[in-house]
Amino acid sequence: MQKRCARNRKRSKRRAIYCPIHGCYLDSASPKHSLYVDSAQQLQARGVSRRSALMLVAQRGSIVVSGEWLEAFWCPQCKTIDWYHVRRIGDREYKLSPIPQGLWQQAVGVIDPQGNVSVSEFTKRHSRMVKFGGVKDFRFM
Ligand SMILES: [Zn+2]
Repeated sequence: MQKRCARNRKRSKRRAIYCPIHGCYLDSASPKHSLYVDSAQQLQARGVSRRSALMLVAQRGSIVVSGEWLEAFWCPQCKTIDWYHVRRIGDREYKLSPIPQGLWQQAVGVIDPQGNVSVSEFTKRHSRMVKFGGVKDFRFM
């Protein structure tokens, strides 16, 4: 049975996040879980210059990344809830990718499905943590 995706219920407000398999709108099923980085390489991979990256890490330890997070979504076609690595690529435009194993350890307040607890690791670093980039992304927490 082929069912068409329900379209644009609240089109103007809705984030354009689609199932990578079906192209359906996805409904959020979890809070956003911010990602933090604690190495210059991870910052450089996100477009920070080497010098700034080294300085940030030296001064601050862990840095929360803006425009990227982990979030679970319900797909009405998959009929399942899946976790994705979400990256904002434009105004209300987002790119979803499967979550690489190591990324769970960089997520704030997430316990990965394989049973690795990242929360305690995060808590240890919490006091040294600062926000990096647009703070407006983190009001959901
Ligand atoms: Zn789907």
